[in-house]
Amino acid sequence: MFRGILIEKDESGYRAAVKEIDEAGLPDGNVTVRVSHSTLNYKDGLAITGKGPVVRKFPMVPGIDLAGIVEESTDPQYQPGDAVLLNGWGVGEGHWGGLAQKARLKGDWLIPLPAGFSPAQAMAIGTAGYTAMLCVLALERHGVKPADGEILVTGAAGGVGSVAIAVLAKLGYSVVAVTGRPQDAEYLQYLGAAEVLERAQFSAPGKPLGRERWAGAVDVVGSHVLANVCATMKYRGVVAACGLAAGMDLPATVAPFILRGVTLAGVDSVMCPRAERLVAWQRLAADLDVAKLERISREVGLAEAIPLAASLLNGEVRGRIIVDVNR
Ligand code: NDP
Repeated sequence: MFRGILIEKDESGYRAAVKEIDEAGLPDGNVTVRVSHSTLNYKDGLAITGKGPVVRKFPMVPGIDLAGIVEESTDPQYQPGDAVLLNGWGVGEGHWGGLAQKARLKGDWLIPLPAGFSPAQAMAIGTAGYTAMLCVLALERHGVKPADGEILVTGAAGGVGSVAIAVLAKLGYSVVAVTGRPQDAEYLQYLGAAEVLERAQFSAPGKPLGRERWAGAVDVVGSHVLANVCATMKYRGVVAACGLAAGMDLPATVAPFILRGVTLAGVDSVMCPRAERLVAWQRLAADLDVAKLERISREVGLAEAIPLAASLLNGEVRGRIIVDVNR
């Protein structure tokens, strides 16, 4: 038996609770991992609360991220004792995930724990931080350089936003943070934001084009915020879009794209090819100041993760939550 969060859905409703789970219930896979840490991402919040159709099979162990030690493996890439990391691949959605003491997975989904990070630090980064790095890589791929001008980061005090600010600032970009929590301005400045703007400036329906200001942007919010970001990009600016914290819709016009040559670069972490994941994690090891992770993250136990899931969806969680699954 092992402890984990189990989501069940039946005639008595949708519920998540910490349970003793039988190992016989672990899904198929060629690597069994003794999990030490997992995290709480926006998607885990949707899964645990049932507020979004994330879970595709019941019962389900949520947790789209995990770090731990290989216990058994028939995959030649991994031996018992190896420290490993997993982000995404539908784990915690259609395959039992990381918010438990044990997981059975496909070896191809794992990557070795990057040198320089403890399991807890890797989970302080988690899918949110790795996605932030994919956004930075997307800006770089489209040629955005620090000398080009300011980079806007929306949803700044959340997980993706916090890591994006820290990385971009370390790379020498001038970062402007957009937040609904102006009381967190000092935190955002500590991470590296040169300026902090109120979310209200971006969340109402805007004009097709506004004053050109941003050379690049990382957007986690979608909806009117993303439309307004696109409308205020500089000529040939690049927006890396990865999130939907305000909604799935994009009430925009084509004006920024056809008149200013703006690029909207979509970022997906779940099915991102392994080679690019490895690059993203190498870059996190090089370009994220681990001292900042202390301030970005806090650690909780499995039971505390359940009520925090609802707080996270309400935009009340700052930075990242690490879950010590043995606590
Ligand atoms: P968090 O909840 O940690 O952060 C989201 C932030 O968005 C909040 O902290 C808040 O920031 C802001 N926000 C919340 N609600 C609203 C709203 N209604 N309007 C405007 N801003 C809002 O989540 P994550 O950082 O983990 O994830 C952010 C988004 O990115 C999510 O939508 C998630 O699904 C998506 N995502 C996508 C991935 C992909 O592969 N494409 C991978 C990882 C995440 P503030 O208080 O500073 O305004």
